[in-house]
Amino acid sequence: MLASRYYMPTLREAPADAEIPSHRLLLRGGFIRPLAAGIFTFLPLGLRVLSKVERVVREEMNRAGAHEVLMPVLHPKELWERSGRWDTFAPTPLRVQDRSERWYCLGPTHEEVITDLVAADLGSYRDLPVTLYQIQVKFRDEIRPRGGLIRCKEFIMKDAYSFGRSREDLDVAYDAMFDGYVRIFERLGLPVVVVEAEAGSIGGTDTREFMLLSENGEDTVFMCDSCDYASNAECATARPPGAEEPGEGPRELVATPNAKTVEQVTGLLGVGADRLVKTLVYRAGERFVAALVRGDRSLNEFKLARVARGDLRMAEDVEVQELTGARVGFAGPVGLPDGVTIIADHEIAAMRDFVTGANADDAHFTGVNVGVDFEVDEWADLRAACHGDACAQCETGTLQARRCIELAHVFKLGTTYSEALNATFTDGEGREQAAVMGCYGVGVSRIVAALVEQYHDDAGITWPRAAAPFEVAILLLSPDDEELRAIADNLYADLLAAGIEVLYDERDASPGVKFAEADLIGYPVRAVIGRKTREEGLIELRRRADGAEQLVESAAAVAAVQALLEQA
Ligand SMILES: [Zn+2]
Repeated sequence: MLASRYYMPTLREAPADAEIPSHRLLLRGGFIRPLAAGIFTFLPLGLRVLSKVERVVREEMNRAGAHEVLMPVLHPKELWERSGRWDTFAPTPLRVQDRSERWYCLGPTHEEVITDLVAADLGSYRDLPVTLYQIQVKFRDEIRPRGGLIRCKEFIMKDAYSFGRSREDLDVAYDAMFDGYVRIFERLGLPVVVVEAEAGSIGGTDTREFMLLSENGEDTVFMCDSCDYASNAECATARPPGAEEPGEGPRELVATPNAKTVEQVTGLLGVGADRLVKTLVYRAGERFVAALVRGDRSLNEFKLARVARGDLRMAEDVEVQELTGARVGFAGPVGLPDGVTIIADHEIAAMRDFVTGANADDAHFTGVNVGVDFEVDEWADLRAACHGDACAQCETGTLQARRCIELAHVFKLGTTYSEALNATFTDGEGREQAAVMGCYGVGVSRIVAALVEQYHDDAGITWPRAAAPFEVAILLLSPDDEELRAIADNLYADLLAAGIEVLYDERDASPGVKFAEADLIGYPVRAVIGRKTREEGLIELRRRADGAEQLVESAAAVAAVQALLEQA
């Protein structure tokens, strides 16, 4: 590609709202341009990178035996009503109406569409197993899109769906996708960590996420510093402390006027937050649930939802008042009405003589003990894990919180969607069965940002070869010098003939501009035709990633470039 004829507008400075390196460098290097918050155009350089990522993903999906399709962006409301997700999917999908006032959503995910598609053609067990995938635009109504390509309203995903006859078929398809993902990230040079995760709005089990550790990520994983335990923040579990000696009590009612928060109560009573038990009131379907965690901990609602069963929501203030007879802020486990399920975090088993709300306005109890003052219906891991917690999997390690970027996930869905949308087949004995499904997503456009987060320095991007927009840049420093231009033209032709992707910068610009722009855009190898070429007939080669330099004769340049690229 001749730079003089290419559309590659770079920026001297990134806009102030571009806070992380990938956002800044992709804007400055002329890879992307924003249309609105969280909505981007891919410019030619950016599209080349995106296409390379897509190609790696596509090759690995095909290798894993999946077949590519392309499904619509517009999904009719009726279809999402059949799965029950039109009103429940979170965040609510972007919705549009056509001129006949029919509703559609812009697909945030494609379980409904693919299951409906396969249902129409599925007959006998001989049609299964099958895995289909697509690389398609997705929409998410983010409240605050940020981080450039990391969290967008509109983005590109690869999503795959497997349909099998049995759990065994599902396991095989899941493993094939898992292995495919490992290969994708290896080929792209992204050292991912695979962690346990929650399925969220998609549903399912055996959920795993592929995370890139990155200080600019907006997700958190907890990793043990001693064993291989790794989990996302929603699922991470800490080892509960051993039981203490029984408490002494006695329970006493103390006045705590207007002290509703943990800080206010513990401040007033002169105790640490780790001596207080917080009582959080929820509704699980028709039942009330009182969830207990230590005062200095956060309740993890995903964990509570798993043990509470039934649709979980926080109780309204009026419900709390009616149930406890006290204003919000004074609820406690002692003397709650029958029928309230008390679920306590494991850590509370090791607490004694603690403080709780008294279910009376402006009052708390001190000297409270489990088994003496109240009984726990169910013990569970309810609290959010913290940096430095003891690892639950090994004896010695502690959990380290690390920032990360989620790049992919895999779920075992089971038959939820195939039952709702009639994706059934006739088994060997003539019985009707629901197909057993899995789903597997990769954030393709997000990978572009992740690559830049992983591969950049002060001067710009240091693309790995597998994702670089061009493999080599030829910088012709004196375009008016006909002798030099002839050498550069020849090198350009020879590199193209060798199948190498070349950006030939023959523009009428200063050497400084060309060097800076080549570093910013991040071609893995740079070939300079300049003073050394005129004086000594040598071409300067430089590898972007590590600065390795070489001076070569023109005749040896192609081979030398290839050798440098081998290690790029
Ligand atoms: Zn461990």
